[in-house]
Amino acid sequence: MGNDFILALDQGTTSSRSILFDRSGAILGAEQEEFRQIYPAPGWVEHDPLEIWNTQVATARRLLDRLRIAPAEIAAIGITNQRETSIVWDRKTGQPLHNAIVWQCRRTTPFCEQLKASGLEVEVQRRTGLVLDAYFSGTKVRWFLDNVPGLRARAERGEVCFGTVDTWLLYQLTGRHATDYSNASRTLLYNIHELRWDDVLLDALGIPPLVLPEVGPTAQIFGVTALFGGDIPVAAMVGDQQAALFGQTAFQPWQSKNTYGTGCFMVMNTGHAPIHSKSGLITSLGWGLGGSVEYVLEGSIFVAGAVIQWLRDELGLLRSAAESEAVAAQVADSGGVYIVPAFVGLGAPHWDMRARGLITGLTRGTSRAHLVRAALESISFQSADVAHTMESDSGQPLAVLRVDGGAAANNLLMQHQADVLGIPVERGVTVETTALGAAFLAGLCVGFWKDKAEISNLWRRDRLFEPAWTADQRAVAWAGWQEAVRRTRSDGGF
Ligand code: ADP
Repeated sequence: MGNDFILALDQGTTSSRSILFDRSGAILGAEQEEFRQIYPAPGWVEHDPLEIWNTQVATARRLLDRLRIAPAEIAAIGITNQRETSIVWDRKTGQPLHNAIVWQCRRTTPFCEQLKASGLEVEVQRRTGLVLDAYFSGTKVRWFLDNVPGLRARAERGEVCFGTVDTWLLYQLTGRHATDYSNASRTLLYNIHELRWDDVLLDALGIPPLVLPEVGPTAQIFGVTALFGGDIPVAAMVGDQQAALFGQTAFQPWQSKNTYGTGCFMVMNTGHAPIHSKSGLITSLGWGLGGSVEYVLEGSIFVAGAVIQWLRDELGLLRSAAESEAVAAQVADSGGVYIVPAFVGLGAPHWDMRARGLITGLTRGTSRAHLVRAALESISFQSADVAHTMESDSGQPLAVLRVDGGAAANNLLMQHQADVLGIPVERGVTVETTALGAAFLAGLCVGFWKDKAEISNLWRRDRLFEPAWTADQRAVAWAGWQEAVRRTRSDGGF
């Protein structure tokens, strides 16, 4: 019996998953369990930290039991997690002191506006690479301190731990209070240049340093857990989007991936130096590995695969999301129809929270197939908008885009993405890129894999989509999209 496997714990927003990988990077098995989404008020989202923990550990136990794997056969555990979601617990007992405040929760928007009015945003951007938004952890921690009775006094005495979900799981697994660079860089409290908690921001947000976890490299022995019946090292912790970039083996500067889920997350490796966007992208730490750190540039699109759900659930135009491909293929193009799904405003690079969606170019001949096709194209057009911004911020043209996520299964969408961008789009065999990235990092840490080159050789292409449009076709389609976006803007596009 050797150390033949890596166990990835993939703690997502709606479910906890455990996945076992072998030395070739192939999946031996996976277990998944959903947990409750708690909505205490409009725009507020919480999770029960104990449910997060219990579902995570239960899926791992079930997986090992089902596959009859002993702890001695597992070389290491890698953790990847929903980012920014914030938890506070009692340092002694490990008991949560409130529900987790989830990344989507908008409850701290008024506090963010107050901070903006005090002129803090420029400093936040310069020090953390982020924008001053309720999305990130810092203002959520402040909310706990202001709203959980007695918490601030206890926090100042060092009796309280704050952590993102990686930190919470690590504490339960090993008793250690720590996080990695990728997760720390999403808190709004971490200086990504100096690699330390930022005193100026801690002061501005009123957060006592004693609540904060220790921060270190993404691939390191964070601790050892005996919870599965024998000692297994926890050898990596990494936020989900950075994990996906690593799982795509995008190790070189300017290599990028786009994940097509409910929303889209495009992330570019920018190497050892951070690039600050001039146009609404955010800068984070990608990972710390082998004594150095790498930075990423990231753009988020709020509504991507969700526009297909909308066609299915609200308009009744589709029976399933997968059917969108066959329906869209009934027509050669969208017939001049554009859908801009700005249902919750426009994200990167426009950041127009008051914009709302629209459909343009309707004629008497517009069919269901045209609408479905235009909806799919809205996903690739929005992604192209972010890709172009990345190119201009980094000064580097993209050579190829690697893709993953549920909607990346749609061939018509991937072809349109290649056509619109004018570069090849490359889809891998493994769809579980996030878990794979965490497994790769843990495996590198314990010598399960030798180096990045060995891992790059494990990546297998499923399909390459070559761009088929002429430059003219691309220019015409792009101009149409931009005009449609302009019309959604709350300022009329001026
Ligand atoms: P998430 O991780 O955000 O829950 P997934 O990666 O599971 O998302 O992808 C699900 C999303 O992708 C849904 O919004 C769904 O509408 C969309 N989707 C799934 N399959 C397809 C498909 N074949 N074509 C287009 N969209 C799809």
